[in-house]
Amino acid sequence: GGDPTHKSNLLAKRRHSLGPNLSLSYREPLHIVRGEGCYLYDAAGRAYLDMVNNVCHVGHCHPHVVAAVQKQLARLNTNTRYLHRNILDYAQRLTATLPGNLSVCFFTCTGSEANDLALRLTRNATGRSDMLVLDAAYHGHTRALIEVSPYKYEGRGGFAQVETTHKLPMPDGFRGPIKHGEPEIGRRYAEQAGPILEQKHNQVAGLIAESLPGCGGQIVLPDSYLHHLYSMVRDAGGLCIADEVQVGFGRVGTAMWGFQTQNVVPDIVTLGKPIGNGFPLAAVITTPDIAATFDNGMEYFNTFGGNPVACAAGLAVLDVLENEQLQNQAHQVGTYLKQGLVALQKQYPLIGEVRGLGLFLGVELVRDPESLAPADREAAEIVERMKARGVLLSVDGPLHNVLKIKPPLVFGQAEADIALFHLEAVLKETKL
Ligand code: PMP
Repeated sequence: GGDPTHKSNLLAKRRHSLGPNLSLSYREPLHIVRGEGCYLYDAAGRAYLDMVNNVCHVGHCHPHVVAAVQKQLARLNTNTRYLHRNILDYAQRLTATLPGNLSVCFFTCTGSEANDLALRLTRNATGRSDMLVLDAAYHGHTRALIEVSPYKYEGRGGFAQVETTHKLPMPDGFRGPIKHGEPEIGRRYAEQAGPILEQKHNQVAGLIAESLPGCGGQIVLPDSYLHHLYSMVRDAGGLCIADEVQVGFGRVGTAMWGFQTQNVVPDIVTLGKPIGNGFPLAAVITTPDIAATFDNGMEYFNTFGGNPVACAAGLAVLDVLENEQLQNQAHQVGTYLKQGLVALQKQYPLIGEVRGLGLFLGVELVRDPESLAPADREAAEIVERMKARGVLLSVDGPLHNVLKIKPPLVFGQAEADIALFHLEAVLKETKL
């Protein structure tokens, strides 16, 4: 009874009507009713600084994106089997941001659909089925993607690694066997794929990897890691998929795409999350040759993918990225925030490593700088205390000890100062 919007009533309804394995963030869940820029507002009107949402890339409810979607929604929303300008304009503007001959787009609605299609393209083009993946990777929620997502199949409710999946160790210069600063760390980690490629001669269809592993713990791949890995995969006749669902669209600051920080050109790129600022839109982009091998008589059709409204959202996001120079902002503010975090690291040994590029940062917490014992409970506690102070963060990484930072790119220096102020206070008050 009582107020139907009261938290306890919402919780009860949720338990009754939604799948029980859908989690809620925070011990005391938030009832968020509005978003603007990099802030979320709860039902009581309290503002929260959002450092979690990498989907509302150009800011929650950005007026230019909202207006573009509203306008198109009021005019036409059909499937893509008619001629329409939006999808063509969008494909052209999107591919103009990509190097090489990555010029053919397939539009989908989710990152999972994009990666699922990327796997199909890869397997179809090579006539092979085995895939190389990075440890702790997450690529999506379909069965085919869970099979290439150690983060899922190795976790609770998971299953044994399928025979066609081959897991590469995370090239983690902090925690892994080869440390930052050692010579040729990128090449040496990449060479760990050698034995698998040899053993599975003529069976490896390709590699799927994020350009900066997110669920892997906000890892910055060592210099030239993907360069070496891609050439090994290609020498073995495989294709390379870059999953840019989390890190694409200027978030890394120095480049539009994460793979560009590794000086590689993938065969297939998958995009999602930020692409429509929250409107369901995702894409697979590949070369004309690979696209041609997929044209085997079976149509690829996606009812909602690339519809005029979705493409209006996508076009508007690209407008805002350019007009507000958000890639540059990600670089400037990300660098500033990272410096502040590094300064905290000097005072608080709990902070083992600060890493990341642009506004895709990770703060790895350790109980002991020698053993690197993961400070998972501490990470969870910090996230709760930051939330109590009105700053939203999340935890990621296979050991659940990495504070994950990936705010909308409109996050400015003032917001970085707020976050740093509260983080320092929390580190101090908890004497962690
Ligand atoms: N790839 C990566 C790297 C992701 O982070 C996600 C979503 N967390 C996906 C794919 C799947 O995207 P979606 O949830 O839109 O299906």
